[in-house]
Amino acid sequence: MDVDVAVIGAGQAGLSAGYFLRRSDLSSVVLDHADGPGGAWRHRWPTLTLGRTHHIHDLPGMPLGTPDTSRPASEVVAEYFGRYERETGLDVRRPVDVTQVTSEPDGRLLLGTSDGPYGARALINATGTWERPFWPYYPGRETFRGRQLHTADYRGPDAFAGRRVLVVGGGASGVQALLEIAGVAAATAWVTRRPPVWRDGPFDAEAGRASVGRVAERVRAGLPPGSVVGATGLALTPEVRDGIERGVLVRRPMFARVVPDGVVWADGTAFDADVILWATGFRAALDHLAPLGLRGPGGGVALDGALTTRVAADPRVHLLGYGPSASTIGANRAGRAAVREIAAVLGGTRVTGA
Ligand code: FAD
Repeated sequence: MDVDVAVIGAGQAGLSAGYFLRRSDLSSVVLDHADGPGGAWRHRWPTLTLGRTHHIHDLPGMPLGTPDTSRPASEVVAEYFGRYERETGLDVRRPVDVTQVTSEPDGRLLLGTSDGPYGARALINATGTWERPFWPYYPGRETFRGRQLHTADYRGPDAFAGRRVLVVGGGASGVQALLEIAGVAAATAWVTRRPPVWRDGPFDAEAGRASVGRVAERVRAGLPPGSVVGATGLALTPEVRDGIERGVLVRRPMFARVVPDGVVWADGTAFDADVILWATGFRAALDHLAPLGLRGPGGGVALDGALTTRVAADPRVHLLGYGPSASTIGANRAGRAAVREIAAVLGGTRVTGA
């Protein structure tokens, strides 16, 4: 099949792009390798409710409404995205796995997929980060006799009942998991590279803009982006305050090494652990784009354009949900900007819509 624009990924970023493509006169298709709608949200652990996320932004043209904040975010968001796909008439094809994208001599992009080849004049890549959990290496990690898992594999606290659990990582996911696990575990410890930054009061839009700006600067320079969502500080909710008072959220610096029975610090102190939970974040899932050679010497893909989505070295390709657009609000806005810029490159097509 041949289209003007192929979108890979039907998360917030891919659906937003698909929506604005439908409002242009460019032909398009959205390919996603999951079994159903929801993007990465469909995989989030069942104890993550919308009441405990930072905030989920509406998709363009159809508000989420007032969801039940006590239901799992994985269900609520998957239902919303599914409704959105139906009501906006997006051509989302799944499960279609895109294994590689190459540039053809005639200037087109060729997508190798589990559904055969797709040709496109331009590409919006919106494959997120969920499928690339980041496991940092610490000496001795391979010697640990207990269980090691990443946030991506976390399914709630039940599996940790009566265990001694070490949580590694200073982001919101680590804090949420630690608070849940501490209710059932025999003992917990929390280590982070940097001291946590607590945020008292509502999220400050000014600080949010500043952190997005910093990530955008890194991406323009071709450096690995870092996290936008992680840069907004950890909210001091009543639950978090209680965790600090009870001594659960007391952070220790990184240990010196992992040993078979736990971890040890440079001063000789130790924590005996049955489980290590690595809440150490995610990286962009871009392996299928390797043949395009987009990654530069700085270790990231250099982007430019209005909202820093356009690949500097190849204006046919936009990365959404990467760097400054890696949040639900960022992904949303980036969809419109990317479609406008692609329309201009492909011949001045007008894009209408919110
Ligand atoms: P995703 O939602 O990850 O969607 C990517 C899609 O691409 C998936 O459906 C996947 O199946 C598909 N895909 C991937 N590779 C391929 C391939 N090769 N072929 C075909 N399909 C493919 N943001 C907020 O604004 N607020 C929050 O509270 C918040 N909490 C978060 C909590 C966690 C634990 C994480 C990891 C992120 C959080 N974020 C949050 C970030 C936010 O979820 C994303 O930035 C946003 O949803 C945009 O996602 P996306 O569309 O870029 O990617």
